[in-house]
Amino acid sequence: MFNDKRSKKVVFVSHCILNQNPKLDACAHYPGTIKETAEVLLGADIGIVQMPCPEFLYLGLDRGVDYGTNPSVESEDTRIAVCMNEEKSKCLCTNLVHDIVYQIEEYQKFGFNIVGLIGINGSPTCGVETTWYGGGEHQEPGIFIKMLGKELKKKSINIKMVGIKAMDAKEAVTKTKKLLGDG
Ligand code: SF4
Repeated sequence: MFNDKRSKKVVFVSHCILNQNPKLDACAHYPGTIKETAEVLLGADIGIVQMPCPEFLYLGLDRGVDYGTNPSVESEDTRIAVCMNEEKSKCLCTNLVHDIVYQIEEYQKFGFNIVGLIGINGSPTCGVETTWYGGGEHQEPGIFIKMLGKELKKKSINIKMVGIKAMDAKEAVTKTKKLLGDG
């Protein structure tokens, strides 16, 4: 079964790696994809699964910013971290997590290789190694990746996860290649 041209290899990526448009205002570093990282993924001949953007789905494209408060990226990330920890947000994230875990389980059931998952370090939501809350960056995953990791652990599914930052293209490429076993 599935003995056609497909590689049976997939990588899961945070939404904004392939589409910078839903980024928080002033946080998009590219017109479209995180180009150098996307090029590495495209060149690897693997399927790229774009996970949803939880902040966009919960807070909207503008994240509900109040420009009257003279916000900075840091103050907005701090506010967003609080919002994304609300119960309603966690309900949304739980549903998103279940959809992702379902896909992973289906792929694995049929012998596909989940090469790994790439998130966005420093994000309150999709950080893997670092996240943002309380006015600073912390060495722990963001709320969405934390919930995803818990669910995967519950099901004894082990997926390699790595976090990149769009502003550091060189490191992002290095980490992506390493995840793909090519660096
Ligand atoms: S890091 Fe996550 S929440 Fe932030 S823009 Fe990217 S996909 Fe959306």
